[in-house]
Amino acid sequence: LPVLAIVGRPNVGKSALVNRILGRREAVVEDTPGVTRDRVAYKAEWNGRRFTLVDTGGWEPDASGINAAVAAQAEVAIDLADVVLFVVDSNVGATATDEHVVKLLRRANRPVFLAANKVDDVRQEPGASALWSLGLGEPYPVSALHGRGVADLLDIIMEKMPEVSNVAKQEVGGPRRVAILGRPNVGKSSLLNKAAGEERVVVNEMAGTTRDPVDEQIELGGKVWTFVDTAGIRKRVHLQQGADFYASLRTSAALEKAEVAVVVLDVTEPISVQDLRIIDLVLESGRALVLAFNKWDLLDDERRRYLEREIEQDLAHVTWAPRVNISARTGRHLERLVPALELALDSWDTRIPTGKFNAFLAELTAAHPHPVRGGKQPRILFGTQAASRPPTFVLFATGFLDPGYRRYVQRRLREIYGFEGSPIVVNMRVRE
Ligand code: GDP
Repeated sequence: LPVLAIVGRPNVGKSALVNRILGRREAVVEDTPGVTRDRVAYKAEWNGRRFTLVDTGGWEPDASGINAAVAAQAEVAIDLADVVLFVVDSNVGATATDEHVVKLLRRANRPVFLAANKVDDVRQEPGASALWSLGLGEPYPVSALHGRGVADLLDIIMEKMPEVSNVAKQEVGGPRRVAILGRPNVGKSSLLNKAAGEERVVVNEMAGTTRDPVDEQIELGGKVWTFVDTAGIRKRVHLQQGADFYASLRTSAALEKAEVAVVVLDVTEPISVQDLRIIDLVLESGRALVLAFNKWDLLDDERRRYLEREIEQDLAHVTWAPRVNISARTGRHLERLVPALELALDSWDTRIPTGKFNAFLAELTAAHPHPVRGGKQPRILFGTQAASRPPTFVLFATGFLDPGYRRYVQRRLREIYGFEGSPIVVNMRVRE
């Protein structure tokens, strides 16, 4: 989906605007600065068009950190959004920080819209007009709190939003899009450099591919791949406060553009909460997943035994993800990444014909019928694969199916069809 990113100083009303656009109370509005939220990307829809809304305001620094934080927001937005919405408080006017952001945004080869927020009634409109001085074109007066002007602004924004997502473009046969993810120092940039260095780096001039400067095309295993947001990997962002927030912002936004994620783990260190959080973001995004265990050259026997135990305990929910043991430093087994990526993408693309899927369901329910609940026994009437990327199934049943039973269906699907490297989704609908 195309990405709209909302950027602006703390307290200008970014969260309120996110709520307005989503039409629900999902992003929490807080009066106190410094609030950290977990979610940064939301699925949004306007006039029947779907897009991803990225809220860069999840971490609001104290006064001293404002410039760095806002610059980091702008940087992420510039690199990863299709359209940027810059929010200014029309009651305060343009501050030095706002002008600094404008400079950063100017460098972006992206449409930028200027929202003059907190114009709650018409008498405040002169405050909005004053923002012409920022040189970003027309300031759109809005009141995120009351909704005033927001619909008109969204209509205009949608005109500049690309129709087809980058992922959808792949269906005509362009290179497949890979995100390299992982916490700092696990070896992401070493991996990227090794891959790009040993193989020919393909100039970004292939027909039908995006020319995003933050993406790089690299030939691996005789095939060209697009590595998304390589700027985020190569760049060293020096941010102390809020660094985690900006890292997850980048991760989410990069996943949005990718089809498959390589999550890099450092085998010399215990699997951490941060590693697991990154894997969760991949699962939430529905992208295919490959796990790369890096720094294998530093692994001794004792650590290796611990690692095996950690994998069993912490990664039990992603046993389906292909694992490759590599060393970005020595180049060991880097070539194994390619078959792992191909396997994961094949699974992600898989479509099971309805006839076959129902034969599978018939066999499954005959062997293991749903348990009786309150004197009734829900029956699966029919099923179909509603989507691929990732494979998404819908079961029509006569009553609510136990979560345990749905997990059983998922398990059987994996046993029969594999789906290595891809999440699968099983939904249900009750038919009377
Ligand atoms: P990033 O922050 O994830 O991009 O990590 P870097 O690629 O910058 O790597 C962090 C540090 O780990 C650097 O000092 C690398 O030289 C080192 N490193 C990366 N991969 C390996 C590896 O496979 N083996 C060893 N021994 N060191 C590695």
